[in-house]
Amino acid sequence: MSGKLVPEINDVTREYWEGTALGELRLRTCLSCDAKFRFNHGWCPQCGSAELGMEATSGKGTVTNYTVIHVPPYEAYAAEVPYALVLVELDEGVRMMANIVDCDPASVGIGMRVEVTFEERGPVMLPQFRPSN
Ligand SMILES: [Zn+2]
Repeated sequence: MSGKLVPEINDVTREYWEGTALGELRLRTCLSCDAKFRFNHGWCPQCGSAELGMEATSGKGTVTNYTVIHVPPYEAYAAEVPYALVLVELDEGVRMMANIVDCDPASVGIGMRVEVTFEERGPVMLPQFRPSN
């Protein structure tokens, strides 16, 4: 273990992390209003319902914003700078932030097409993105 941040697995997030372990990026779905959203709520942010499902996404999306990190936030990240953080709008319409890998941070731009990939981080497979066509 490298000292990097590790997400917490709990009753709300377990099904999401089970998905990433299978190579799936999943979204919560609301069984009342059909909203889709990230995993970390136990209720629908649109209608408040606690009747939730979960479904796999395509894992593909488009970069809508990004930043290149030059100063590591923690010592554990010192070997990785510079690296880019991207805000990705998944093709399913939900935005999420992650690292982008397998590319020069200077090549990252708004509108870039990306696909999910996973990095082993402690007990979880953490979603990251890489360029795609
Ligand atoms: Zn809802």
